[in-house]
Amino acid sequence: MDHFWMPFTANRAFKAAPRIIERAEGMWLYSDDGRKILDATGGLWCVNAGHGRQKIADAIAQQAMKLDYSSPFNLGHDIGFEFAERLVKYTPENLNRVFFTNSGSEAVESALKIALAYQNARGKKGKYRFIGREKAYHGVNFGGISVGGLTYNRKGFGPLLPVDHLPHTLDLKRNAFSKGLPEQGIERADELENLLQFHDPDSIAAVIVEPVSGAGGVILPPIGYLKKLRELCTKHDVLLIFDEVITGWGRLGASFASNRFEVEPDMITSAKGITNGTVPLGAVFVRDEICDTVINAGAEGAIEFFHGYTYSAHPIACAAGLATMDIYDEEGLLERASGEIGDYWQSSLHSLNGEPGIVDVRNYGLIGAVQFAAPDGSLVGSKIMQRCYEKGMSVRAVGDIIAFSPPLTIEKAHIDQIVETLSSIAREMF
Ligand code: PLP
Repeated sequence: MDHFWMPFTANRAFKAAPRIIERAEGMWLYSDDGRKILDATGGLWCVNAGHGRQKIADAIAQQAMKLDYSSPFNLGHDIGFEFAERLVKYTPENLNRVFFTNSGSEAVESALKIALAYQNARGKKGKYRFIGREKAYHGVNFGGISVGGLTYNRKGFGPLLPVDHLPHTLDLKRNAFSKGLPEQGIERADELENLLQFHDPDSIAAVIVEPVSGAGGVILPPIGYLKKLRELCTKHDVLLIFDEVITGWGRLGASFASNRFEVEPDMITSAKGITNGTVPLGAVFVRDEICDTVINAGAEGAIEFFHGYTYSAHPIACAAGLATMDIYDEEGLLERASGEIGDYWQSSLHSLNGEPGIVDVRNYGLIGAVQFAAPDGSLVGSKIMQRCYEKGMSVRAVGDIIAFSPPLTIEKAHIDQIVETLSSIAREMF
């Protein structure tokens, strides 16, 4: 127990009472004490097609024997090009270039650097600032925590990049228990105009937001909000990056939130569900003209963009990703959340309205959150998460918000179990 310094974990508490998962299949995790636990968060918002998919395991094994590794710097392999070509079938129309990374955090760093490289390449060196948003999570590297808006992730790590932040869009007073996108709050996008004027749009390289914030507590964009951000970015010649590490790959009922909400950003960051969580891989999907501008600005024969990873387009990760895409297509998983199961998810979660201690329920596609508030004001999220685990269900707590992002293969009986578990805990505790 001592040797593994666990990430984002209360190490002392965990090691005093460990929760060890031995294996997983479908919707289920199996613990070392012989229990079957419903995976209501799809791992960490990544196991979109459910656990233990044979097709992915076979693809990984075959690729490991065919080509386990070869450098992505100045050498190529077929599967990297094949995977990039396959991926852009799912992206918005003008985003057809793929920069591979190993994680969501690295995808964010790469997108921020691509934004700067693009501004430089077209002679706009003065555009060096970024705009993020309060409560945003963009991973844990220095660029990501700079544009991110979660205090605990930022404090103690400064000074950070030159960044300003939009207000978040969580508004329980006006929008509590909204079904789907909240109606109130589009005016919060107007703050972008203020920030752009305050800093001067000529100093801003890009705006980055999650279409739906995940790790910040499942915060939905008010109706019309994302379109407004797009309009303002276009008007002021500022790039718009959507961090779709969570919202991609069917979570909201389409391949990407960009497609579902019909707003085309200049770049999309992706990871997690891109390989069904099996092998680490991230990507930045880039608008063609951005990539062309950077590449064409380089001298003939010289490297154009001084950036990349040893494991960019790792062959085994690409094989896992291709098999994942096959499963998504064969089983119609990318659209599943916008159909009947998404409706059932919404009505079931909202049946918790009125249970003790619950102050909000929010949902979209197959993402959801139930927000608690203890009468004495104490923080209860981690206690509820622990009670859920004891009752056979794995969830994420963000403060007092319990977040759900189950595998897209979920059936009604699993949804019933989620709701029953949470309502029994609410009645027990409050
Ligand atoms: N961006 C968003 C929106 C995320 O939700 C996450 C992880 O949850 C990340 C970036 C970071 O991804 P990773 O943990 O793969 O570095």
